[in-house]
Amino acid sequence: MRPQPCATHHTVMKSIQDTNFAGHKVLLRVDFNVPVDENKHITDDTRMRESLPTINKLLADGASLIIMAHFGRPKKGGFEPELTLEPVARHLEQLIGRPVAFTQQLLGSGEPEAMAASLKPGEAMLLENIRFYPEETKGGEELARQLAALGDCYVNDAFGAAHREHSSTAVIARFFPNDKYFGFLMENEVRNLEHLMQAPQRPFTAIIGGSKVSSKIGILENLIDKVDNIVIIGGMRYTFTKALGGHIGNSICEDDKMELALELMRRMDERGVRYYLPADSVVADRFDNDAATMVVPSGEVPDGWESMDCGPESCQMLREVIMQSKTILWNGPAGVFEMPAFAQGTRQIATYVAEACAAGCFAAVGGGDSVAAVKQMGLADKMSYVSTGGGAMLEYLEGKELPGIRAIKD
Ligand code: ADP
Ligand code: MG
Repeated sequence: MRPQPCATHHTVMKSIQDTNFAGHKVLLRVDFNVPVDENKHITDDTRMRESLPTINKLLADGASLIIMAHFGRPKKGGFEPELTLEPVARHLEQLIGRPVAFTQQLLGSGEPEAMAASLKPGEAMLLENIRFYPEETKGGEELARQLAALGDCYVNDAFGAAHREHSSTAVIARFFPNDKYFGFLMENEVRNLEHLMQAPQRPFTAIIGGSKVSSKIGILENLIDKVDNIVIIGGMRYTFTKALGGHIGNSICEDDKMELALELMRRMDERGVRYYLPADSVVADRFDNDAATMVVPSGEVPDGWESMDCGPESCQMLREVIMQSKTILWNGPAGVFEMPAFAQGTRQIATYVAEACAAGCFAAVGGGDSVAAVKQMGLADKMSYVSTGGGAMLEYLEGKELPGIRAIKD
């Protein structure tokens, strides 16, 4: 049970919930871009599992499913044996307990077309890696038209690809002006993100960290107008600290972003956004889990030492800010959490945010590494919402309209 499921609908959502797809041929775009090992064994099928509610609902209705997905980054244009979706099709069969038709032949050969035409209600097929078509990533309309011809409605459940204006993620929706829908995964993401950015309860606190200011500029700029508090953590805070005249030793820093850091702080002051730079840091004498460590004030890192995590005083401050917030957005780890010796700050934040959620706060966690950290710490299901889309969520937080969302809503 999630502590505080978000129930508000701010826009008319085209959900599959209220529609019966019996007898329909549904084109379903999913994000099945799973990690595999050298032997093409899927090492983590989370992404596939996340779309099972949508797949099972459509099949249970008696729809025929034509599933579209991408895998890796094909370069050649056309079929590449290393990037076939065949292992994914076989794994999907296990997950749904029914056969999944599959051919390595591409559209135009007539084979996938015939396969789609012969699907019966409750049957599914997976099209070969959609990025084998060079037009896909260019958002080619002709490919979208070819795909659209296979079915009579379109469901997008690929939130992880929603920031891409590709043939199968966005352009195809044009061919189904009255028959396009979000899948459950996508709907849940959109609803939570809209709740977060359009109707947050206050105080609204953003906790932004990670390694680089440069990758978070867009988010910081967009949030300045939306939040009450911003806590800047992780490696990127040392660019701010150095810009303010602090000594950061060997801590990571983007010197060319110091001016921007000062500008962001000026803007936060102007808008009355309270910002926090945690007071102390755990520093190490080398970038290693077994390095010698000590705790120092964040602006007094000795030469030869580098910051790896936030310190105990910072954690106390974070706790106070988190516990008085009604809405929290967290993106970016507090330290080098991949090394157990420097995971403490990130773990503490996850624990406090979980506590805040239990007390009624709405907290969203996003970003590939942040989500990995929260999962690693076993706290993901204590958060109100953990985004499945790394890049897509970050772009949404930058205030960009995601093509995959717009295509369904328009
Ligand atoms: P996300 O994927 O959640 O958006 P980022 O990719 O921005 O997060 O940042 C994650 C990375 O930041 C992690 O690999 C982590 O080790 C690194 N990091 C956090 N704090 C520090 C630090 N003090 N010094 C160096 N790297 C850090
Ligand atoms: Mg990352």
